[in-house]
Amino acid sequence: MKFKLICFLTTLAALVFLGVRFYNVHLEDPLTLGRTMSTYYRSVPANDHWWLTSVPEQTAENRAFFEARRKKILELIERFRSVDELSEKMCKYATTMPLSVLRIGTNVTALTLAAGTGFNVVIIPQSEAEGFKKAFNLSTFFYFRGGDEGPLFFPAITMSDAFLACSFMHECGHGIRVTGKILGTQTEEEVLMHGLSLEILKRAVPEYGQKVAQILSRSDTKGFKRMLGKITSEDLREMDTMVHGKVYGREIARVSIKQHIFSVGFSFVDERKLPNIVKSEIYEWLDTVNRAWTDKSH
Ligand SMILES: [Zn+2]
Repeated sequence: MKFKLICFLTTLAALVFLGVRFYNVHLEDPLTLGRTMSTYYRSVPANDHWWLTSVPEQTAENRAFFEARRKKILELIERFRSVDELSEKMCKYATTMPLSVLRIGTNVTALTLAAGTGFNVVIIPQSEAEGFKKAFNLSTFFYFRGGDEGPLFFPAITMSDAFLACSFMHECGHGIRVTGKILGTQTEEEVLMHGLSLEILKRAVPEYGQKVAQILSRSDTKGFKRMLGKITSEDLREMDTMVHGKVYGREIARVSIKQHIFSVGFSFVDERKLPNIVKSEIYEWLDTVNRAWTDKSH
């Protein structure tokens, strides 16, 4: 009887051990995070709301409208000026940025509606969106194209103040790297920019930081893959709703989903006092996840 009980307990312990092991391997599998991101992404409405559907005429009314848009962006940058060294510099660089609208005809041109000096911000209207992706061979509309004056491309999609500030200042930060010479690898630069985006989101939406902390409390692991594997598609929906409000589409979700993963990952590194290099590993891990998922889906 005693022997049977020992056998039973040993088998049970072995099964629990194997179960935990299997579960951990599952969490660290890139396909786990890939599946979570994809499940959520597919549930987001396909269409975003564009505030500019076509290239506008050069009328006084339209110029006044674009002056107002620029004022709004500058006010947002000012609001988050004290986040870090980069956002502080941004205020100086972006003060009189000219605002143009992209026009894709035989050539790619930009129609300036709010003149100025500094970063050239080029707004992409809905009518030019697909042409833009083709012309620049990109899958995103958020893009800083290098050089001292940009241009910084930005889609005319309606965004919450929180997301407008976080995504615009992220791209603007890439620009300051070019003009202000922040040295480092491309990965290190992205780590810096996504770190800035995280700080802006935490300030703009206090529940966002709480949500990140709640995800981190699910495990005491020191392995980031295991931690990120614990993110669910429901978490991503909650975070997106906090950041965008109720109405948003896939173009902005494509960008914000990645940011949420970095937000959890980078906060994990800070909270568990891991070396900063782990943030770069997390940045590269998301590439691995995307590649693994894309290969599997084909
Ligand atoms: Zn970036």
